[in-house]
Amino acid sequence: MTELVTLPVLKDNYAFLLHDEASSSTALVDIPEHGPIVAELDKRGWALTDIWITHHHWDHIDGLASLLDACAERGWTPRVVAATADMHRLPADLITHQVADGDSFAFADMPVQIIDVPGHTVGHIALYLPTADILFTADSLMALGCGRLFEGTPAQMWDSLQKLRALPKQTIVCSGHEYTQSNAKFALTVDPDNAALQQRATDITLARAKDLPTVPSTLQLECDTNPFLRADNAALKAGLNMATASDLEVFTEIRARKDRF
Ligand code: ZN
Ligand code: FE
Repeated sequence: MTELVTLPVLKDNYAFLLHDEASSSTALVDIPEHGPIVAELDKRGWALTDIWITHHHWDHIDGLASLLDACAERGWTPRVVAATADMHRLPADLITHQVADGDSFAFADMPVQIIDVPGHTVGHIALYLPTADILFTADSLMALGCGRLFEGTPAQMWDSLQKLRALPKQTIVCSGHEYTQSNAKFALTVDPDNAALQQRATDITLARAKDLPTVPSTLQLECDTNPFLRADNAALKAGLNMATASDLEVFTEIRARKDRF
């Protein structure tokens, strides 16, 4: 039995806790700040065994040193997993386990697969647990969006998203920010006739009015509604007057429009 906890942290970030009861294992995905994470672990009586870092941006790692201090006080020695490609800009002395695309390690009795997803940054990884149907995407694939291209090219991000899109559709997508409401407003400008998107936009407005998170989502829902996964959709292309353009050209155009939105 595994339990997934979505933790709102900072202004609009999410961290995630994944707990396996049988083995008393608990993983944390990203550490925007340590306070709410330690409080949640203490409240639940969970000892942290794993910390998984998706990419080097401050809003995903800033709490690491103070979290490790809190772990030491409690006698916990978590494994800290991050991409080899980011080691030059992470606090490397705190990382115990380096990974790259295609690597796999075990958490409790579950495999965790590393998928390289460059675009937002070069070095960004996603973590996929196929037996639990859980995918941690942070700022690569996001709820109704994808991360801004700070380092990678549109081609790299489109390729990354296609890799994620190919996973089983029931996969639970755990992304790094509560940006979904503004993402929905933008998505409707490029895919206005998509009934599934219209419905999702309504659901998002209702959820946010009650201050409920819109993350995680499912891969099926993202495939049906996220314009960044639909750059090869004929109706969307036609609506942008890009019926004969390549999928990558359409993706690039959608990403550029979002940057100006
Ligand atoms: Zn980021
Ligand atoms: Fe971020």
